[in-house]
Amino acid sequence: MRRALFDHQVSAMQMLRASLGSGHRRPMLQAPTGFGKTLLAAAIVEGAMNKGNRVVFCVSAVSLINQTVEAFWYDGIRDVGVIQAAHPMTDWSRPVQVASVQTLQRRKLLEADVVVIDEAHNMFDFYRRWMADEDWQKVPFIGLSATPWARGLGKHFDDLIIAATTQELIDKGFLSKFRVFAPSHPDLSGVKTVAGDYDEGQLAEAMDRGTLTADIVQTWLERGEGRPTLCFGVDRAHARKLQDRFEAAGVPTGYIDANTPTDEREAIRKRFHAGEIKVVCNVGCLTTGIDWDVRCIILARPTKSEMLYVQIIGRGLRIADGKDDCLILDHSDTTLKLGFVTDIHHEALDDGKPKKSSAGDRPERDEPLPKECPKCAFLKPARVHVCPNCGFAPERQSTIECAPGELVELASKGRAKKKPEATMDEKISFYAQLKGHALNRGYAPGWAYFAYVEKFGVRPRDARFDDVKPQQPGLTVANWIRSYNIRRSMGRKFAARGAA
Ligand SMILES: [Zn+2]
Repeated sequence: MRRALFDHQVSAMQMLRASLGSGHRRPMLQAPTGFGKTLLAAAIVEGAMNKGNRVVFCVSAVSLINQTVEAFWYDGIRDVGVIQAAHPMTDWSRPVQVASVQTLQRRKLLEADVVVIDEAHNMFDFYRRWMADEDWQKVPFIGLSATPWARGLGKHFDDLIIAATTQELIDKGFLSKFRVFAPSHPDLSGVKTVAGDYDEGQLAEAMDRGTLTADIVQTWLERGEGRPTLCFGVDRAHARKLQDRFEAAGVPTGYIDANTPTDEREAIRKRFHAGEIKVVCNVGCLTTGIDWDVRCIILARPTKSEMLYVQIIGRGLRIADGKDDCLILDHSDTTLKLGFVTDIHHEALDDGKPKKSSAGDRPERDEPLPKECPKCAFLKPARVHVCPNCGFAPERQSTIECAPGELVELASKGRAKKKPEATMDEKISFYAQLKGHALNRGYAPGWAYFAYVEKFGVRPRDARFDDVKPQQPGLTVANWIRSYNIRRSMGRKFAARGAA
C-alpha cells in the first residue's frame, strides 16, 4: 500500500491534474529537497495505472534504476518492468517500465500513455527529440525536478508547477533550518566563465591556495562542532587535497566522487554515520548521499549555477533526530552572490531567449542579498541589523556628507530614503565607473562587484554587465565611493573593537 500523501503532495497532484486538464502536455513539477518526490512519483504512477495507462518512468543514470524500483515496490507498485540490458526484471508486458535515458536512447521507442522524466533539469538530447516527435505530441511528459531552472527548459516543457518552496518546507519542519558563515573570500578574478559557470580548471587553481585550504580546515576545527560534514571541492585533485589537509590536522576524513564503487561508498557511509569519519570530501556527489545524515556543509566550490548551489546545500537540509540546523561554512562567496538557497525562485521556466532586462520581460532578481556580520562572518538576512549569531550591531551611520546629485542619502535613523529606481543604463554606467575606480587604485578584484551590490542591493547579473568596460568615475560616483569606503572602514574598526 502506498503511504498517505502529505498536504503539499496532495496539492501538487491537484495542480498537476489541473495543468493536464487545461491542455498542457509537458508540465514540469518543481519538488525541492525534502518534498518527498519519491512518494509523489509513486502517486503519479499509481494514478496513471488506475486509469489503465502504461507509464514509462525515466531516470538520469543507470545506477538509479534499482533504487527507483525499490521505492515503487515499497509503495506497493510492484507490476514493474525494467528496460536495461540483461536486467532480471525485463518484462515489456508490465504497465510500468523504469528505464534510464542512456538505455532508452539506444532502443526503439516503446508505447506509453504517460512518460515521467525524473531529474528533468538534465535535458538530454534524447528527451528533446522524443518530446518533439510528432507521434508523441498527445502523450503527457511530466518532468520532476528540484531545480527546473536550466536554460531553455521552457522550450520543451509548457507549464511550471511549484507546489512548495524550500522555505515552506523548512517552516513546516520537513527540512532543517540552516545557518551560513562566510569565513573566507576567494579571489576569483582570473577565473573565466564558461557556459554559465566558472571554468573548472581555473577555478580549481584559484581555490587550491595554501591559505584558503588552511582556513577551510581551521574554520571547521573552530566552528564545525565536530558535526558530520560534507565538503564540496572543485575537482578530484582539489577534493583530495582537502581530504589530506583534514587528515593532517587529525580529522578522520573520507573521499568520494562519481567513480567511487558502490561498496566503498557504502562503507564510507557506515563509518560516517558511526562517527568514525567526520568529514567526507567529494566532488559533484549530488544524486548520491541523499539519505546521509549531514549536519554541516563546507562549500569550497564556488559556482554561478543556482541549480548546483541549491543541490549542494540541499544535501545538508535533511531532517534528523537531534538535528537543530545545518551549519554551512561557505568559503566560496556563493551565498553572498546568489543569496540564501531559500531566496532562489523562478516564476516561469527559462525560454532560452537572450535576457533583455531593460525591456522588462526578465527583470533582475531583486531580493536583497545577505550581509556579512563583520565580527563573526555570519550571513545575516538583508535588513537585519543586530547579528542573530553574536549579537554584534554595527553602529548606524548618522550622516554621511553627500555632494549634490548623490543618489543614496542615509536618513538620521539610518533608514535609506526611498529613491526612484535607477534605469538599467544608469546602473551599467555606475558599474563601469566602479570598475574604473578599481582599476585606478589597483583594488582587489571583485571590489566593483561588491560595491555595486552595496549600492543597488542586487547583483550585476544581467548579461549586459559582462562586457562593461572600466570608465573614469564622475563626481557622483566618486562621492558615493568615498562614503562607501568610510562606511567600510568604520565597519572594520567596529569589528576589530568588537572582537577585542
Ligand atoms: Zn555576528
